[in-house]
Amino acid sequence: MKITPQRIHTIQEMLTMRAATTTKVGFVPTMGYLHEGHLSLVRKARKENDVVIVSIFVNPTQFGPNEDLSRYPQDIERDIVLLKEVGVDIIFTPNAESMYPERFQTYVDPLGLLVTEVEGAIRPGHFRGMATIVLKFFNIIKPTNVYFGQKDAQQALIVEKMITDLNLPITFNVEPTVREKDGLAMSSRNVYLTPDERKAAAVLYKALQKGKEIFDKNLDKNVDIVRDAISEILVSEPILSLEYIEIRNSQTFEKHNKLAAPSLMLIAVKIGKTRLIDNFLLQPNGTWNTGRLV
Ligand code: AMP
Repeated sequence: MKITPQRIHTIQEMLTMRAATTTKVGFVPTMGYLHEGHLSLVRKARKENDVVIVSIFVNPTQFGPNEDLSRYPQDIERDIVLLKEVGVDIIFTPNAESMYPERFQTYVDPLGLLVTEVEGAIRPGHFRGMATIVLKFFNIIKPTNVYFGQKDAQQALIVEKMITDLNLPITFNVEPTVREKDGLAMSSRNVYLTPDERKAAAVLYKALQKGKEIFDKNLDKNVDIVRDAISEILVSEPILSLEYIEIRNSQTFEKHNKLAAPSLMLIAVKIGKTRLIDNFLLQPNGTWNTGRLV
């Protein structure tokens, strides 16, 4: 029998609950409108912990003024049903007023390439808001293990670095990107796509696959070979506009000149009003993490 997760709305209730828990706590932060990508993190947390906590909070401080905060999709009842299926213990859903009360004025401000370049360059302030809310949740929930998705590679790197730099007693875990049958990375934002846009969106995965193929055949050559191959495929889709194709050292986030492991191939496009991001990871041992199709 599946037990209905306990829903906790207030920070005080969450702190009290946590104080009464002495076993391993796994935590998955989300913005809700859950899909199989989120659930894969929750399943992993379920396997490795005694208590599993999922937060659902659309964090205002990580949205830019022209971004989609006011229309971000939400369906808490559906999310609860999905989380019950996976066997979550606690769903933490605080409101924005309690997380950011009047006169809130302390932020976590990560520095360096990871926040100023690639996604950081396009979404100034995004990672500051993200790091701030993630640290707040870590302080309230005091998790043993936390689970993030490879889909948001730059976010995962920033959180991992924050845990190390600030000596947080937390084990960081990153899980592969979960993809639709045609390879499109699952995202709550995919719901914005019209049927034509949704069809076109499959080109991101195709482009990354081509990039991987060219990468493997041209080790030690200039990265432009891969960038050009990815670009050619992306621009073949006329309704899509390209934001970036980046090839970075997956540990330092420095630009790669030559094709070598470890590496992250990151792409971002806009289809209509919707931004989509995706990446493939070439691990230090030379194997690719390209995610998995469901
Ligand atoms: P979000 O609700 O978009 O803030 O995402 C919450 C967590 O789920 C983040 O760690 C994301 O990286 C992760 N996530 C989102 N989409 C996917 C996906 N398709 N596969 C794996 N993890 C994902």
